[in-house]
Parts: sequence; structure tokens; C-alpha cells
Amino acid sequence: MVLLEAGKLPHKNYLNIWNLTALRGIQEATDHITLGALTTYTDVQSNPILCEEFPMLCQAASETGGLAIQNRGTLGGNIVNASPAADSPPALLAYNAELELLSVHGSRWVPYQSFHTGYKQTIMQPDELLAHIRLPRLWPDLQHYYRKVGTRKAQAISKVCLAATARVVEGTIEHIRIALGSVAPVPLRCRGTETVLQGSKLGESAIEKARDELAREIVPIDDIRSTRDYRLKVSLNILEDFLRKLRST
Ligand SMILES: Cc1cc2nc3c(=O)[nH]c(=O)nc-3n(C[C@H](O)[C@H](O)[C@H](O)COP(=O)(O)OP(=O)(O)OC[C@H]3O[C@@H](n4cnc5c(N)ncnc54)[C@H](O)[C@@H]3O)c2cc1C
Repeated sequence: MVLLEAGKLPHKNYLNIWNLTALRGIQEATDHITLGALTTYTDVQSNPILCEEFPMLCQAASETGGLAIQNRGTLGGNIVNASPAADSPPALLAYNAELELLSVHGSRWVPYQSFHTGYKQTIMQPDELLAHIRLPRLWPDLQHYYRKVGTRKAQAISKVCLAATARVVEGTIEHIRIALGSVAPVPLRCRGTETVLQGSKLGESAIEKARDELAREIVPIDDIRSTRDYRLKVSLNILEDFLRKLRST
């Protein structure tokens, strides 16, 4: 609607998929949760299992737009819109989400991390619809950290957004996943920084190495919302904040 009103989309016929009930609902299975692509941010926040097991997705939903956007905007639309500044992609990357793409030729499941191929580019074919989003269920002792940095608390697109999970046993990082938004042409899973941290002892040395690696891994830009320098500095600082907040079991 924004693009249409701004004159950036032709005035032609558009298909409204809002009433496709097959793309709605949140289903619970033993090893995963499946969400219809038309799940709204309000649906996400009102689901107790998602809020218990996937808190970063619920936090992203609660910080997306304002209430009107949360009632009407869908997770599927947020994914296919393919903005590197969108709020749910970092959480979906950190949770290893999978997507079901559907067409008259059948259905295929793809890892979300392979979905974005470039700025606003995806692997989706023109005849495909995003049907479902699947989240593998996680260990209960996982720590989750989500931080959106924007101009305001609501109705603000991110300047930087970080989602990360970790499990720390006897001071050693045994599992770690880090994803960032607004720091590259696509929502970015930070594999290099994860590799540096995986198996490391929590502490100053790990923080320093992780900051150095993240600075190499991300490619923030200057744009209307922020500057390259600010985004770089804030990304490193929120990574450090996440690492300092980790607790060992
Ligand atoms: C005022 C305002 C504030 C916003 N604030 C935020 C914010 O804070 N954070 C944020 O991340 N986003 C924000 N957005 C962007 C937008 O609201 C979200 O991305 C929303 O989730 C889009 O969902 P939708 O269902 O409205 O998708 P649409 O806008 O209807 O669709 C987006 C694109 O995806 C395609 N599409 C949608 N669903 C499917 C599907 N199931 N299969 C295939 N293609 C599909 C459409 O054809 C279109 O190209 C904001 C938008 C507005 C207008």
C-alpha cells in the first residue's frame, strides 16, 4: 500500500490473500512449531508457546510498527518483502526457521538462511506463495537476546537489530547463533563471529575477538535512517551487551 500510494507500483489488479485460511494458524508438533504465512504480529504475541519458546520472535512482533500494523501485517509479508531492515528476520535466522514455498507444481521446504540472495532478492519463483514458516523447537536452557535500535520505541524502522541465542555450560559457550538486520544487503547470520565464540570461555578475550570478527563480517551503509559508523558501533556494542549478559549453568 505504501509503494502504491507513493506511485512506485503500477495501478493494476492485485490478489488479496488475506482470506486464505490455509495460510493461517499456529500448529504445535513434538519437534517444531508451524506458523501460517498470514500469521500477524498480534497472533504471534498472543501465542503462549511462541512467547515461552521463541521469545525473540514475540519481542520482534511487539516492536514492529504500531498496533495497527501489528494487527494487519503478517510474518509472511515481512519475509517476502525482503527488507534487510525488517525486524523478524534476525529472530527467524537465529531460530533456524524453514519456509514452505508453494506453487501449482507442488511444495518445497527451504532453510530461511538461503532465502535472501541480495538486496530485496529472494529464491522465490514468480508463481510461488510463501505458505508456512517452521521453527524447530529448542532446548529449554537456551538464552535469548533480541535488541532493536530505532529512533523511537514504536513506528520506527530499525537502524540495527540483533537476535542471538546461546547456551553456556561451565563458562564455555557450547552453542551460539547470531543474526543482524540493517548491516548488509540481506538479513545476516554472522557465521564468522559464531565460529570465533563457539567453544570459547566467556570473558574479556572472547568479547574482544568477537567484536573484531563482527566488524569484519558486517557491511553497514549510510542511508536515510542512519550512518555506516553509527551502525557499526551500535552492532559491536549490542553484541558485547549480549555476551556480557550471558550466564553459565
Ligand atoms: C507504518 C508502517 C510501519 C512499519 N513498521 C515496520 C517495522 O517496525 N518493522 C518491520 O519489520 N516492518 C515494518 N513495516 C513493514 C510491513 O508492515 C511489514 O513488513 C509487514 O509484515 C508486511 O506484511 P503484509 O502482510 O502487510 O505484507 P504486504 O505488504 O502485503 O506484502 C509485502 C510483499 O510480500 C508479498 N507477500 C506477502 N505475503 C506473501 C506470501 N504469503 N507469499 C508470497 N508473497 C507474499 C507481497 O506480494 C508484497 O510484495 C511497516 C509498514 C508500515 C506501513
